[in-house]
Amino acid sequence: MIPVMRPWLGQEEGEAAAEAIRSGWVAQGPRVSAFEEAVANYVGADRGVACSSCTTALHLALLVLGVGSGAEVVVPSLSFIATANACRHAGATPVFADVDHATQNLTAESIEAVLTPATRAVIVVHQVGMPANLDAVHELCDSRGIHVVEDAACALGSTYRGSPIGQHSDLVAFSFHARKVITTGEGGMITTSRQDLADRLVRLRQHGMSVSAYDRHITVAPLHEEYLETGFNYRMTDVQAAMGLVQLGRLAELVEKRRRQATAYQELLRSVPGLTMPQDPPWGTTNFQSYSVVVDRPYPLSRDELMTRLSGRGISTRRGVMAAHREPAFSGHPHAPLPVTEHLADHTILLPIFHGMTDSEQDRVGSAIGGFVA
Ligand SMILES: *Cc1c(COP(=O)(O)O)cnc(C)c1O
Repeated sequence: MIPVMRPWLGQEEGEAAAEAIRSGWVAQGPRVSAFEEAVANYVGADRGVACSSCTTALHLALLVLGVGSGAEVVVPSLSFIATANACRHAGATPVFADVDHATQNLTAESIEAVLTPATRAVIVVHQVGMPANLDAVHELCDSRGIHVVEDAACALGSTYRGSPIGQHSDLVAFSFHARKVITTGEGGMITTSRQDLADRLVRLRQHGMSVSAYDRHITVAPLHEEYLETGFNYRMTDVQAAMGLVQLGRLAELVEKRRRQATAYQELLRSVPGLTMPQDPPWGTTNFQSYSVVVDRPYPLSRDELMTRLSGRGISTRRGVMAAHREPAFSGHPHAPLPVTEHLADHTILLPIFHGMTDSEQDRVGSAIGGFVA
């Protein structure tokens, strides 16, 4: 069976994790600080704040912007449900906007259509790594005092106008879940160049504490912490960060390989009718965290039929990005019409793409999909 995704993990991650354990410092400590600095450096932001996940990172991002009860936050319904859930965690109301068919992302136009006087923020998702049109979104939002938070859960290694995603908004949230391009098992990070926001994020992720356990540990004089506000335990562990530092070193190679595999899919599927393959938008490059293909007529099979037939050939796939507004958790939640979202949720398939996938495995996927055309 060809899996849809497999993380690229080697000996080095195991050794780094073991080293963290041998050091005796397994909770948040020096390796988390090093990982934060390395990610911030990589994306070109001043600070990185590690969290337990991208979901908790998004929750804190909204909190430090003061977006909570009574506020509306525009999000795509076409996203992993955590994007919309983070708004509810903060006490705000998610407002679903439609997406663009080509990038599967929010656009300035789709956001503008759902703005109200209560709109305080927009969470722009770079869906499966595909960069959204950030300039257009900032142009719409900045002058109206609407905060822009980027959900870059899948987009580490993607670029926007020649620079890495992670430096184009005040708060950008990444995920290191096993399904993402690089992984710490579970984990997240916010990158920012706003020192004030970074300091508050650091405090909120560790119970509102004025000094961290590690600072207390390395200081000779007794250092007493204070609890300045009600915070959370959203910390990453040093074992995870040790793994993340090794994974970050693999990122360039990972993205390069995925981009070569995407080009190969483009070639393999070019002559198959009814398929739309993902393409870099004019403003950036995607890391192809997933390879999302739209399956439409005249392709002879529906998306679901195609998934079943591929599974019969030993090829795992997944449905494309979900539509949160259709889930029971959001039943009764009002929303504007979302025709593109619904079309994409019903017609997209994620094909296998991962670092260890061989050319012959990819050829097998390509010929199976082409072979179902009579
Ligand atoms: C994976 C994902 C998340 C959630 O990330 P976690 O680290 O698992 O919390 C949020 N948003 C998007 C778009 C995602 O793909």
